[in-house]
Amino acid sequence: MKLRTKLWLLLMLSAAFSMVLFGFTSVWIGKTANKGYALFELNPLALSIVDSIEKQPASGPDALKRILDRAHEEHPEIRLLWIDETGMSFYDTAGLNPTFTFHDLAKLMQNMPKQYLTNDDVPIITPATWSGQSYYLLMTIPASAMKQGEVYFLIRTLKSLLTLVLPLILSFSLPYLLALWSFTELNKRIRKLNNALNQLNIQSSSPVVELADSSKDEIGQLTQHYNSMAHRIRSQFAQIQQFENNRKLLLSNLSHDLRTPLTTMLGYAEMIRTGNYSDEKDLQARAKIILQRCRYMDKLLDQMLDISRQDAEALTLRSVDHNVSELTRKIAAEYIMILDGEQFEFDVEIPDEDISIPIDAPLVERALRNILDNAIRYGKEGRYLGIRLKEDGQSVNVSVTDKGKGIPPEHQAHIFERFYRVDSGRKGEGLGIGLAIVKDVALAHHGSIEVHSTPNEETVFKLKLPR
Ligand code: ADP
Repeated sequence: MKLRTKLWLLLMLSAAFSMVLFGFTSVWIGKTANKGYALFELNPLALSIVDSIEKQPASGPDALKRILDRAHEEHPEIRLLWIDETGMSFYDTAGLNPTFTFHDLAKLMQNMPKQYLTNDDVPIITPATWSGQSYYLLMTIPASAMKQGEVYFLIRTLKSLLTLVLPLILSFSLPYLLALWSFTELNKRIRKLNNALNQLNIQSSSPVVELADSSKDEIGQLTQHYNSMAHRIRSQFAQIQQFENNRKLLLSNLSHDLRTPLTTMLGYAEMIRTGNYSDEKDLQARAKIILQRCRYMDKLLDQMLDISRQDAEALTLRSVDHNVSELTRKIAAEYIMILDGEQFEFDVEIPDEDISIPIDAPLVERALRNILDNAIRYGKEGRYLGIRLKEDGQSVNVSVTDKGKGIPPEHQAHIFERFYRVDSGRKGEGLGIGLAIVKDVALAHHGSIEVHSTPNEETVFKLKLPR
């Protein structure tokens, strides 16, 4: 059943139930808490007494008195008087037998309803015929014997009933109608949200359906969350797809990168085995090529191992106080040696004093080597390598600068992602995980890695390690 139908049913039922409850409780409370005579009960009582007297006209005054006394016994609060046409009391259950003038009777009749609202006795006068003559039955009831509060309605026609029932129904239904209206509004908003969620397609290239709901209530908040969730899902899916594409590309590159040197190596090894070389120099040259290819493959396999390690576990740090300036100096010296004779300009700024901070030295060394390898591999044409170590109150910063082709701005935010390579079509230059490892190392140390690159001018990688 739809929510709307459910609510309609619920409201109808509760409106009907509350009306029944109202009627029932008001009658019940009236009966238990509001004791006494009701005005509408007195007239029938008077008529029934008159009726029983009129039915026995020939039985004489004794029978009349007996009837009145019995009525008085049944209703001790009520005083009953039998009055003749001249106003003389024929019988008074109180035994006072007063005489009434016409004026007295007229006044009693006139004030009948009014008396009911005051604290005086309430009179009920009923005309009667007995023994062929006209009489009156006068009943007087003390105000204290009447119901203390009584809602009585003078309903003569069905129309007058409507005047009561219609306002009652309206006043009962108004809160329900308001509740229904507000629920319908809420329902509309929920339906919109529902539809949007239903239509949310993470793969589609069409723009995300944004919902406008500026209200601050829970549904408004839910709508805002939906909007941001829809965008997040889309962008995360795009990232996953990108990641997946990079992974596939990596695999195809890798098989290519492994097969090419292997073919060369097999060819040269076969030449050596069959003695198909001119002299010792030629043999050495071929052996050197085999060695180079072996190293290259070894490096590739190392990187693959890194990938599977990264997949398997997060980095676990074994931090001890380590002299970062010494570490950086050692690595810088090594790279200067490697590039010796390559007409490189070196700019090394490492303070002489010891800077010791708690680090996992092998991991930091690996991160620095990854950055330096990249600077040489991708920035070689700049013929410049800068290695600087600086410290401030909060951190120790190692930066590596090259002046090669650099990284276009649109790629800078992605190069720390796994398998991301700026020129993804290029083969044999790496698997796109070097910088992802650098980032992991930096984060494991609660530090950071930043890149600032102006293509063909300067590219700086800055590794920040907190003190
Ligand atoms: P890879 O194994 O491809 O080198 P990295 O994660 O180390 O993977 O680097 C990601 C990409 O960032 C590289 O493919 C390269 O395109 C780019 N890159 C990294 N360092 C530099 C640099 N110094 N100059 C230009 N491009 C760089």
